[in-house]
Amino acid sequence: MSTTKSYDVIIIGAGPIGLACGIEAKKKGLSYLIIEKGCLVNSLYNYPMNMTFFSTSEKLEIGGVPFISHNSKPTRAEALEYYRRVTTTWELDLKLYEKVESVNKNDIFSIDTDKESYLAHHVILSTGFYDLPFLLNVKGENLPKVKHYYDEPHPYFGQKIVVIGAANSAVDVALETFRKGAQVTMVIRHEAINPRVKYWVLPDIENRIKESSIKAYFSSSIAEIREHEVDIMTPDGLVTIANDFVLAMTGYQPSFPFLEAMGIAIGDDDMKTPQHNPDTMETNVPGLYLAGVVCGGLQTNKWFIENSRVHAEVIVGQIENNIK
Ligand code: FAD
Repeated sequence: MSTTKSYDVIIIGAGPIGLACGIEAKKKGLSYLIIEKGCLVNSLYNYPMNMTFFSTSEKLEIGGVPFISHNSKPTRAEALEYYRRVTTTWELDLKLYEKVESVNKNDIFSIDTDKESYLAHHVILSTGFYDLPFLLNVKGENLPKVKHYYDEPHPYFGQKIVVIGAANSAVDVALETFRKGAQVTMVIRHEAINPRVKYWVLPDIENRIKESSIKAYFSSSIAEIREHEVDIMTPDGLVTIANDFVLAMTGYQPSFPFLEAMGIAIGDDDMKTPQHNPDTMETNVPGLYLAGVVCGGLQTNKWFIENSRVHAEVIVGQIENNIK
């Protein structure tokens, strides 16, 4: 590995918020680099193919580039197009398909990726939470028919599928696969669909369950998954149903070991909030900042693109002051 020049700031993650940070750094004339382990806006790329954002397009705008979509709420495809356009408009410096493996601080930060080493005076961590699904920790979870990410409904036509979870992702998956010809059973830990499900979708799922087009086991959990069946622990005891696919829409979490390895303290609250000053977004490691949804720890519904794009300006303002 060769060590190259030292940057004012290195930004880890080219999601919408990492890009917003790069734009701010560029505006302020700082030397910067964005390093992304996958493709541009990798998390959005891995969202369900037919998803529509709950935000209206102007709330997803960064860098003053207008986001025009066909309907008020843009689709995944429109968002991918938009963030590509933002990146080319601002001619952002970024490395794609390069994974940051460690960040260490001595006098300055050394950042090691799977390809190179870099030096930087400041680091912004905008790594999101979409890489690590919550596992079910049940027998059979490793079978290829168990998916923690959902792409599109077609493979599930004519299949018996179990959807685990009752928040937005699970409800969207249950409704879409049902409408494309799957036989859907939901397994839900709580006694009702999550009341935070998008208000325009909630009656749809509740009515499909009421009319039994979609079967739901409430206050229930998966006990075991086998090739052609699943066992469900219900309030009435163990139920075994025939099954072809399990779609575990049980949420995602930031990589806490990755954060801890770079010295970021993780709060001992239920939400495991990574320690940072909310006014500056600086962590307990001086010069290391958090931006975007990673700030919420397990509280993945606290930060969105909408309300965290402002982190970019706050953080880069701090960095500019440090450098002066
Ligand atoms: P991300 O977009 O997750 O970006 C993090 C990036 O870091 C990824 O590209 C990842 O590959 C990269 N990365 C991670 N680890 C490394 C590493 N070690 N080295 C290099 N790169 C790394 N928000 C809204 O405001 N409105 C919505 O309508 C909306 N809809 C959503 C729908 C779904 C299905 C989901 C899951 C989320 C939605 N959100 C929405 C939330 C929002 O999209 C995400 O919170 C958004 O992606 C956050 O942006 P981010 O830049 O903080 O993180």
